[in-house]
Amino acid sequence: MERREETVVRLDAVRKAYGDVAALDGVTLEIRRGEAVAVMGPSGSGKSTLLNMVAGLDRPTAGTVTVDGEDLTGMREAALARFRRRRIGMVFQFFNLLDDLPALENVALAARLVGVPARKARARALELLDELGVADRSDAYPAVLSGGERQRVGVARALVNGPALLLADEPTGALDSRNGEQVVDLLLELNRKGQTLLLVTHDERLAARCATRLVDFVDGRIERERSEPWSVR
Ligand code: ADP
Ligand code: MG
Repeated sequence: MERREETVVRLDAVRKAYGDVAALDGVTLEIRRGEAVAVMGPSGSGKSTLLNMVAGLDRPTAGTVTVDGEDLTGMREAALARFRRRRIGMVFQFFNLLDDLPALENVALAARLVGVPARKARARALELLDELGVADRSDAYPAVLSGGERQRVGVARALVNGPALLLADEPTGALDSRNGEQVVDLLLELNRKGQTLLLVTHDERLAARCATRLVDFVDGRIERERSEPWSVR
């Protein structure tokens, strides 16, 4: 049997500088399998930079980033891209769906990109859309979907390859409060089924609703961490 690491994310003294600005200024953080960590903090405090480091979309100026047992710091670009497609699921504020593909194909494409045959990719995509309550929108193009539906499709796409880690950057930022809550409930449900989650949000109430741990960022540093239990969940 495959032995799975209990630590999914480990950042050690990570610093990221853009010119004179230290977007991350010495961040050390560990996320264990099954946790749902919400990162909060004001605009410009380094939240998106953190997610980009964990996703391997950007490299630290100093320090190390290890995700699902792989040290991303020394990886070449092609290996990073492969790693990202297979092991990381990403959910975005503005969904980032491809406008010229129907919902089902948006999801299936992510599986096709890691070599899953077309028929199997579609079957897996449909299963996920069904689980997320939007199977009836499979043939619809993003333009005709509501915001809430688009984000469900975005979550399905993020999950299609069974990622070790689901990253979400302000996933409710473009939704009204009702749809925002539904998306958060969806993330909560996924976490309860075992999905490890790293979420960025402005909204403390939504964070507390779906997270097992809250991490507050200020000026590229962790200011404090809070753990369950809190009254909301
Ligand atoms: P948050 O997501 O918390 O709003 P960011 O991680 O986007 O914060 O940004 C942190 C800081 O790094 C900000 O000062 C921002 O202007 C700067 N920054 C982020 N990305 C870049 C970039 N690609 N080039 C230059 N500066 C950047
Ligand atoms: Mg951001």
